[in-house]
Amino acid sequence: MSDDFPTATSTEPATPGTDRTAVRDEYRAGTGEDGTPRLTVLAGPTAVGKGTVSTYIRDHFPQVWLSVSATTRAPRPGEQDGVHYFFLTPERFDELVATGQMLEWAVVHGRHRYGTPRPAVEAAMAEGRSVLLEIDLQGARQVRDAMPEASFVFLAPPTWDEMVRRLIGRGTETPEEQQHRLETARMELAAEPEFDHTVVNDRVERAAAELVSLMGLPAR
Ligand code: 5GP
Repeated sequence: MSDDFPTATSTEPATPGTDRTAVRDEYRAGTGEDGTPRLTVLAGPTAVGKGTVSTYIRDHFPQVWLSVSATTRAPRPGEQDGVHYFFLTPERFDELVATGQMLEWAVVHGRHRYGTPRPAVEAAMAEGRSVLLEIDLQGARQVRDAMPEASFVFLAPPTWDEMVRRLIGRGTETPEEQQHRLETARMELAAEPEFDHTVVNDRVERAAAELVSLMGLPAR
């Protein structure tokens, strides 16, 4: 379990008259110089490929600061603590929620808890980075309440059948879990109108590039 969960290090008050002040003002406004929101939330139905798109962005677009979520679920083979998630005990997760260190959190698929570590996100924004959160719909709604100026992007499947194929094809869940995820996905698809933009995940590279351009960053 992770002991190196990021804590608040760079959230001290700004000193007037330093460059830091300008960055802080920008952070408060939540936008960069061109008016593009600093924080972008990527959400969408289960198995639409949010994880694949965000991994592609992490590997190809270093100009994007991708938040590493915390979760109470166990790591899957190949997943590294602090890289894919911070794998926490339920007690540690509770503690972080109780001390206000989660920007948002939710029980996903009725089982495990997932949340966005607040201090790391705030520090990245204060540094002027373009921040991306890949979270579920419940989390996206919480961020919208807390930071309505953020940009909300819905990742949509090309078709429902394609989404089912991707979910079953992944083979990492039991049939009961798959059924539960499909039911959740059906409800999640209906949330598209709540979002500022929709990106169709037809090809990972294309969808990632479109998302990066929506963030106001060069996407070569
Ligand atoms: P998985 O267990 O397959 O990695 O992720 C399951 C779901 O959890 C995905 O729908 C993903 O978007 C969501 N998720 C991952 N991190 C977070 C987070 O920090 N907050 C919320 N609310 N959902 C998350």
